[in-house]
Amino acid sequence: MRLIGLTGGIGSGKTTVARMLGDRGFHVIDADAIARDIVAPGSPALQELSEIFGSGILLPDGSLNRGELAARAFIDKEHTELLNSITHPRIHEETQKRIAAAPGDVVYDMPLLVDNDLHHDMDLVIVVDVDPETRVKRLAGRGIGEEDARRRIAAQIPDEVRRAAADIIIDNNGAPEDLIPQVEAAVAKINELP
Ligand code: ADP
Repeated sequence: MRLIGLTGGIGSGKTTVARMLGDRGFHVIDADAIARDIVAPGSPALQELSEIFGSGILLPDGSLNRGELAARAFIDKEHTELLNSITHPRIHEETQKRIAAAPGDVVYDMPLLVDNDLHHDMDLVIVVDVDPETRVKRLAGRGIGEEDARRRIAAQIPDEVRRAAADIIIDNNGAPEDLIPQVEAAVAKINELP
């Protein structure tokens, strides 16, 4: 089993590339989905969070009100660390579990792979790269306003730092079909790995 890290800034087309790799037989593990799943209604993590941050972080249907949790947790370092101490170990454990259970080569789709210094644990790192201005335009198509998009891009590590961590850079500045030969080349390179 080979572990391939897939990352890129918000709006770079990571999800698009992950889907293409999934179509080519890779088992895709979505880091964002894990972060959501561990705080699903009825989960121990959500129970703990509501005990610490108050039941006001829950919506009437028992699911997490993310905005409210953020408002209560991201007020200072201490509260942020408290939140992380509940979520991070569970995210880590669930990620390891899914990797171990994967039937074959894994593509770990992780927006913050380089930001969180996890790229060293990968057998190969793919970075999807797009000029920030193009990302702002594409994110508008996903309903994310320009100001919000710029703020989110600025909150992530600089593109050049992410690119420097890549074994393969997929350039998604062009049309979606331009991704196909690049994904095929990436698959060929992965298949050359021991
Ligand atoms: P990410 O997962 O990195 O945030 P997505 O794969 O969701 O990015 O892509 C962001 C948006 O840009 C989506 O709406 C997607 O359909 C669109 N998109 C991706 N690649 C291209 C492309 N080459 N040309 C035009 N739009 C694209």
